[in-house]
Amino acid sequence: MGWLPLDYLLAMHGIKWFVKCWFGYCGDHLRERLHRDNIHLTWNNIFFRRSYEFIHHLEITTGVTLITEHILQDDSALRDSLFMDLTEFWRQHHGPEITRELYPDWRESNREIGGHCRYGRSLVNGAACGYSILRTNRLMFRHVADSCRRGCGVRETVDHVLLVCPCYSEQRARIASVCKRVNIEFSVDTALCHPQVLPETETLFLSVIAENYRI
Ligand SMILES: [Zn+2]
Repeated sequence: MGWLPLDYLLAMHGIKWFVKCWFGYCGDHLRERLHRDNIHLTWNNIFFRRSYEFIHHLEITTGVTLITEHILQDDSALRDSLFMDLTEFWRQHHGPEITRELYPDWRESNREIGGHCRYGRSLVNGAACGYSILRTNRLMFRHVADSCRRGCGVRETVDHVLLVCPCYSEQRARIASVCKRVNIEFSVDTALCHPQVLPETETLFLSVIAENYRI
């Protein structure tokens, strides 16, 4: 169709920014951190880690090398890769029943599509990138206090919601249980980023929103 959904469009620009930095179109400090400290391989720098992961995923899916300066001048190979990934996603996703009637060969599968629902994943990704639905996000909640909506009397931060707030203890226990099962430490980083923990973190963030709806 020639256009990309918003999340893919954002991913495309994120990848181009990553490639720019990779080839040195950035400050000396960042260039060193990428090539000397390998920050794209650590969870401390979520943008670079996620960008690198997605590029790697696209390269495996399409067989096309994408970490190349050429895509900064001509991004058609990158766009083609994103369309191929989208096509593969929709081909195997359970949801598009009408589309499936139009393309009956698009079979169903049990492929993991990333959590309980796209909205939950979007909430968690937003929190990981500093743009959360919590009240400490003053861009979204300019006109209300930034304290916990459950009445704890402290600021509604990601740390508070994930680690402290007694109102989400049930969801937190499930996150802790997964962390224990896969033998990782329960922290904000792992809750927001570890693929096996993410579905439970999504549930917690959806609970925050559900409470919001009841007010
Ligand atoms: Zn609270």
